[in-house]
Amino acid sequence: MVLDAHDIYLTLWRHIVISGQSEEVARGLKACTADSEIISFVRRVADDSIGEPFELKELQGDGKNEAKAIECRKLGNEKFHPKIKEYVKAIAYYNESIALSKDGSETLAIAYANRSAVCYELKEYTDCLQNIRLARENSYPEQLLFKLDNREKDCLKRLAENDHKQLEKDDVPRKPKLSYKPNPKLPHISDCLELKEDDQFGRYLVTNRNLSAGDIVIEETPFSSLLVSDRRYMNCDYCHDDQFLTLIPCKSCTVTMFCSTNCQHKAMDTYHRIECSVIKDMQSLFTKVILMALRTTTTAISTFDYNLEELRLHVESIDEKSLNPFKLNWTNIDSKQVYSTIHILATNQSLRSASDLVQRSVYAIIMSELLFRNTELGKLCDNNESHDLIRTLLFRHAQTSPVNMHSIMFMDYTPKENEKYSQLNLGCGSFPILSMINHSCAPNLVRMTLPNGNVVALVNRPIKKGGQLFDNYGYHHCLESLDERQSGLLGQYCFRCQCEACKLNYPLFVNLPHAKFPPSVKPPIDYDEMDRLAEHDMATALRKIPEYCRFLNMFDSQYPNYEVSSVQEALLRCYQIVFSKQSRKVRYKDLCSL
Ligand SMILES: [Zn+2]
Ligand SMILES: [Zn+2]
Ligand SMILES: [Zn+2]
Repeated sequence: MVLDAHDIYLTLWRHIVISGQSEEVARGLKACTADSEIISFVRRVADDSIGEPFELKELQGDGKNEAKAIECRKLGNEKFHPKIKEYVKAIAYYNESIALSKDGSETLAIAYANRSAVCYELKEYTDCLQNIRLARENSYPEQLLFKLDNREKDCLKRLAENDHKQLEKDDVPRKPKLSYKPNPKLPHISDCLELKEDDQFGRYLVTNRNLSAGDIVIEETPFSSLLVSDRRYMNCDYCHDDQFLTLIPCKSCTVTMFCSTNCQHKAMDTYHRIECSVIKDMQSLFTKVILMALRTTTTAISTFDYNLEELRLHVESIDEKSLNPFKLNWTNIDSKQVYSTIHILATNQSLRSASDLVQRSVYAIIMSELLFRNTELGKLCDNNESHDLIRTLLFRHAQTSPVNMHSIMFMDYTPKENEKYSQLNLGCGSFPILSMINHSCAPNLVRMTLPNGNVVALVNRPIKKGGQLFDNYGYHHCLESLDERQSGLLGQYCFRCQCEACKLNYPLFVNLPHAKFPPSVKPPIDYDEMDRLAEHDMATALRKIPEYCRFLNMFDSQYPNYEVSSVQEALLRCYQIVFSKQSRKVRYKDLCSL
């Protein structure tokens, strides 16, 4: 059993505590004047106490595995069986089989052929033809080729007859627009937003005009992003699109698939060139948050064209205090400058405990060891300075990621559950501007992911001119008690929340008082309409948006109350219906069991 990185850290920290060294370690860490010293110090402590903790002898590495590929194919066949008809699950197994198969092998060809059979049942004839072509290009058994030929003929016939499901206009998400004029230098944010800084709030965003519920004020592209590992056989690793009927595998590793050769090349040109040989082990060792530190580091390295000396000099030249993302011209910004804005995101290092710093150092050491041993970074790092650079970047982003990264979401469709559509995590990304927004347990905006992976900020409570924008970092007064929020935020983000909800101890959703509105105002929530929104009915969503916004703008003075919180939820759902990424599998709800 391979220990994961957290277990290795726990073993080390327990040893430090039991042997009575924790104060000495805390003092040692305080005396360090640079990140590289912290990491070296932790390494020495580890070597002295638990010996060689970072050898990770049991790690498997990665490599194509024909036996496993055949096993996955069999599991796919079980799901494809006419009595089961769980076609989307069958696809996930066939995709895993494709990812595990050797390039050019018969196993690969059969997995493609099986995927073509599913496409045929799902009436996706163009995708079916593509899978047939892929099966033929690999070593599909000659004696069975007639099967593919027949399927191809059937497909062409069906396409000619036009017997396939056309996407209805209402199924296609729309593109949102900023509600106010874009800032000329930052076209992805409205010109009413300004960056402020003070001792109490650090850096934060304010508006210089009144904002209303329903306004969209930011649409930002991530600098680096990561697909969660449980979606690796359903979504493109690069653009995260759920083109699961036609994914193609990385030729080397077994955990990465792409929607196209275009995305494959882009991933190879950025993070995957370095990560390919280690990503499977990394996924078994680290959580998503820490993998995001790896992804940000590998993206930074590729941004500097693998020139570590240039990257090191660039990082050393960044003046954290004077670098202001609002003063950069984003219309012609160079990606090296974008990295600077990610590099300076808050680490909260001075607020972190000794055990926290030991933990993040251990992660940086394990990650860098794997990178030096198994990737081209081993050769690229030809002096101590470049080794230090990689370790310190990983250490830095292992601190910035948990504080700043944002989830990338999509609307999943699960017809068997109460809530047919639910928001699920697809991955996470690093966003320079969105990261500047502070937290409140009673926020005035929500984030929403667009199909292209951009994230927008949607105002859901009116904000007065001069007021601060507040996001929610996962601790909302409707869902968690004051104690839970305070300890959660302190643990993950190192601050004691003093938002209005914490100061005034706002109740949980179930205990919220009802709003008082005059008899002329209709109750905002109509349960028939809620049912239609639960079915993602586009027309209802478009109709309800202005009504909900009006209600939120009118009754915010009574916040917190049951009606406003319910309408906030309903408004977000409407926006998700109109603008968000929806699971592709909903298209197949009448053709198979989901
Ligand atoms: Zn893609
Ligand atoms: Zn790969
Ligand atoms: Zn709070």
